[in-house]
Amino acid sequence: MKNEKIPYKIYLSEDELPRAWYNLRSDMKQKPAPLLNPGTGQPLSAEELSAVFCRELVEQELDDDTALIPIPTEIRDFYKMYRPSPLVRAYCLEQALDTPARIYYKFEGNNTSGSHKLNSAIAQAYYAKRQGLRGVTTETGAGQWGTALSMACAYLGLDCKVFMVKVSYEQKPFRREVMRTYGAQVTPSPSNTTQVGRKILAEFPDTTGSLGCAISEAVEAAAAEPGYRYVLGSVLNQVLLHQSVIGLEAKAALDKYGVKPDLIIGCAGGGSNLGGLIAPFMGEKLRGEQDYRILAVEPASCPSFTRGVFAYDFCDTGMICPLAKMYTLGSSFIPSANHAGGLRFHGMSPVLSQLYHDGFLEARAVEQRSVFAAAEQFARCEGILPAPESAHAIRAAIDEALACRETGEEKTILFGLTGTGYFDLVAYQKYNDGQMSDTIPTDEELARSIEALPKVPEI
Ligand SMILES: *Cc1c(COP(=O)(O)O)cnc(C)c1O
Repeated sequence: MKNEKIPYKIYLSEDELPRAWYNLRSDMKQKPAPLLNPGTGQPLSAEELSAVFCRELVEQELDDDTALIPIPTEIRDFYKMYRPSPLVRAYCLEQALDTPARIYYKFEGNNTSGSHKLNSAIAQAYYAKRQGLRGVTTETGAGQWGTALSMACAYLGLDCKVFMVKVSYEQKPFRREVMRTYGAQVTPSPSNTTQVGRKILAEFPDTTGSLGCAISEAVEAAAAEPGYRYVLGSVLNQVLLHQSVIGLEAKAALDKYGVKPDLIIGCAGGGSNLGGLIAPFMGEKLRGEQDYRILAVEPASCPSFTRGVFAYDFCDTGMICPLAKMYTLGSSFIPSANHAGGLRFHGMSPVLSQLYHDGFLEARAVEQRSVFAAAEQFARCEGILPAPESAHAIRAAIDEALACRETGEEKTILFGLTGTGYFDLVAYQKYNDGQMSDTIPTDEELARSIEALPKVPEI
């Protein structure tokens, strides 16, 4: 019997907004492997990391033990402008699927940047400001992270320099203008403002850029100017920590109605939204208090979990960033042009990688056209136009709910709806015009980039 007393949207009050982030690493027996200095092969010290990242964020990055890290009042006040985010019972989708499953989604697209990335952007900008820095640099591919960071920097009065992959800079003029509206300086990458950019331009004058190159430029730009640090929107432990606010709210809302999810689903690019959504649930699982099935969904065109290897690798194609132990396809892997820009990363969060390796997490790869089919089905009954990234989680949630129709199981499914797709309408157009394809890398292609992984001695 369905419990019809549960409202369409479960809102928490402002007062119920979490007061501390939850650090999932504190409950992991097998901790994620440390970041290594690519020059020496040794774990990076706090001092080395502080040359690139803000001090307080370095502490969070290296802290595997503190369970609860208080959210500073200033960040909590900013969160109050768009949080707590709604937890929605997908009654209309359930009806359309004729499933006995109960489906809930946590919607993170309710802010102008349109995604969950703002949760970490404001935290990273805040610590930079508190350290007395002048500004931050970053890269952006599809543009969600750059947008979120621009908003956070505008709020705090911090300079924001964004290196935007040239092809996106040209093809996504609206994203670019949102960033400039919030005061960010947006440079198409590769550019002639950095050494690495000039070198790449000299060699490949017609290149449309890549995320790896934009990262290299952003890191160089931060190092070149006093008072600047580099910030990153996913993958890192600190980003998962900030994103735990998603899971803490979702759990508090479900607990109010005595609902326990059986299955939790999230899309996985660098792993930050999934890591945040599952944090408190995974904590219970690791402590042996509850059991949940947890499912990461990735694009078949960039299948880090399902076809990658668990090894030390560079986080960027320029090979200047630290080495992280993670599921990876190799930093030289270039995914085919798929339309979920936020999921086109060759690696995966070290925290989620360790959990997957230890069997606490499942993963599934889905193909692009089936993802857009799920996105449209969802939009037509639930009303929200989902980001293509988010639609990977929708695909899996729908498939699981349809399986329940066959078995009659009344499973409770929770998934993360990470953002909206208003800036992805070219992709929707391709899908609607029947011009979208599914590109899946061959075993040979993957073997080539995996073969090129850096050789790191076991530590
Ligand atoms: C960036 C992004 C993602 C993927 O990033 P994660 O770090 O894996 O969460 C997913 N959805 C949206 C809307 C994004 O902008």
